[in-house]
Amino acid sequence: MFEELIASWDGEQVVIHHDEPTSTWMLIGVHSTVLGPAMGGTRLTTYPTPADALEDVLRLSAAMTWKQAAADTPYGGGKAVLAVPEIPVPGSPERRALLRRYASLVESLHGTYVTAPDMNTGEADMDVIGEGTSYVLGRPVASGGAGDPGAATARGVFHGIEASVKHAFGSGDLTGRTVLVQGLGSVGARLCRHLEEAGASVSVADVNDGRAGALADELGATVVPADEAIGAPCDVLAPCATGKVVTEATIPRLRCRVIAGAANNQLGVPEDADRLRDAGILYAPDFVINAGGVIHLAGYETLGWDEATMAKRLEAIGDTLLDVYEVAEREGISTAAAADRMARARLDAAGGWTGP
Ligand code: NAD
Repeated sequence: MFEELIASWDGEQVVIHHDEPTSTWMLIGVHSTVLGPAMGGTRLTTYPTPADALEDVLRLSAAMTWKQAAADTPYGGGKAVLAVPEIPVPGSPERRALLRRYASLVESLHGTYVTAPDMNTGEADMDVIGEGTSYVLGRPVASGGAGDPGAATARGVFHGIEASVKHAFGSGDLTGRTVLVQGLGSVGARLCRHLEEAGASVSVADVNDGRAGALADELGATVVPADEAIGAPCDVLAPCATGKVVTEATIPRLRCRVIAGAANNQLGVPEDADRLRDAGILYAPDFVINAGGVIHLAGYETLGWDEATMAKRLEAIGDTLLDVYEVAEREGISTAAAADRMARARLDAAGGWTGP
């Protein structure tokens, strides 16, 4: 299984380390360094088998290559997975020891891979990793890092929704537009606040009923039960929870004009982008609209931007999407294909893409 996965992967390097004390598989996927060191978060989670973890890191690191290229950061694509038997308690000595050993692995790559927060890892974990390697982004601001990228991601998605609404309806004015936000965590909750401020009519859905209720009370939003979010009528559906929301099975049930949200890997399979196009639904490619997080990390920590520059670059996510929509229309292709083409052109211009 391991051999097949690696042989069929188009990336540059995969590092596999088994951490004896905790029986954790530490996997680092360096998919592409064409545009710079491979940068992407460290995911800390459990998997049914080590091969599932490997499959995830290979897929996620490739997605980061496209995201970094589309966002025009000075980074290539990478990702890491710590496949643990069970998730160690935040702040515990066991977690700290695991992260320090992982930091040594990152350090041994001498900067080929630069890590950052991802699922189940945050600022505090990056601080611990930072004790053992300088190849880490997203430490707390107090430690000299850029901090949690969730707010920047939400701001970027907000601009992406404005641009998508402009393309779909002829005006980016959100007043009275109905937007359903699915998933009200670090990104989704902040996005709801931006939308509400802009005059949109916001609906919220989360598997955590308490979270949905509290946010609805705060904003005067409408709660939609989590299992009804896909079929609920709205102008914009903003997936901000899990991936694979848009599939052959769900597309016929969608009753929105636009899909524009933060979740990674929103499409079940690439062909779903064509199905959305056939259904007349405008899709904001996930790796373009949710790039605020990597822009935040690269902009503040690597490029030394001030807040005004950051605000402009997050706003530019909307411009990038308008370009993508224009290419898609002109060429008669899906928006996902247009975004891929744009990212690939950046890779080609920087020295060539070696993948298929
Ligand atoms: P989070 O864990 O803080 O929040 C996720 C929320 O979704 C939680 O409230 C959870 O209860 C809810 N949820 C889970 N499954 C659901 C379902 N089936 N229906 C409705 N709600 C559900 O995550 P986040 O940091 O806000 O990220 C959201 C998405 O955006 C993820 O897919 C993540 O990979 C992606 N993303 C996040 C960032 C970032 O900067 N945080 C950057 C890029 C992409």
